[in-house]
Amino acid sequence: MVWVLGLTGGIGSGKTAASDYFAKLGICVVDADVVAREVVEPGEPAWLAIRDRFGADAFLADQSLNRAWLRQKVFAEPGERIWLEQQTHPRIRERIIEQLSKATSAYAVLVSPLLFESGQSALTQHTLLIDVPEPVQIERASQRDQNNEEQIRRIIAAQMSRADKQAKANDVADNSGTLAHLHQQLDQLHQRYLTLAAS
Ligand code: ATP
Repeated sequence: MVWVLGLTGGIGSGKTAASDYFAKLGICVVDADVVAREVVEPGEPAWLAIRDRFGADAFLADQSLNRAWLRQKVFAEPGERIWLEQQTHPRIRERIIEQLSKATSAYAVLVSPLLFESGQSALTQHTLLIDVPEPVQIERASQRDQNNEEQIRRIIAAQMSRADKQAKANDVADNSGTLAHLHQQLDQLHQRYLTLAAS
């Protein structure tokens, strides 16, 4: 199995900016968010299980998940959240492992906003936090999504605190400056990861 770097950071911290750069350096990137969407695509086992349990309410006209309805459901009934996670989490994990096992680069990157919270860090050898102060996070995330500040603050409050993530991560890259400054730090880290992966 390839040596895996887990890459994380809060909403709007620059995970995608960082993983795009690793991809440019030739490193295979697996995105946990993309995998999480794949396992509930129409016809997938988790999609079928959700249909059996909740019926048509759980879907939109195009058969994709009605995420707003499901969010309400699991918010109102915590037991249903546990059930839903039992359907999705093992399949996400399996698929992440499958995709990582196909990596052909010197090492691979697993990017996940909930790397520590979800236990996905257990699939990695080393972790890197993309770190920005909260005001920068709010400014960049709200410019990108037209989400209002209030929504972004709520998401930040629900994620693991910045201090806890800083304490858990093996490395921290500061993304409060320019993208060039981020890339500079990633160039140095990349050299170290090549060495670590080879040893
Ligand atoms: P999310 O978890 O919300 O998807 P993310 O951690 O993947 O976010 P990005 O999408 O990489 O974050 O970055 C958030 C926004 O900030 C994007 O619009 C991106 O272009 C911008 N951005 C990222 N890094 C910088 C930077 N150093 N300078 C200016 N803008 C940046």
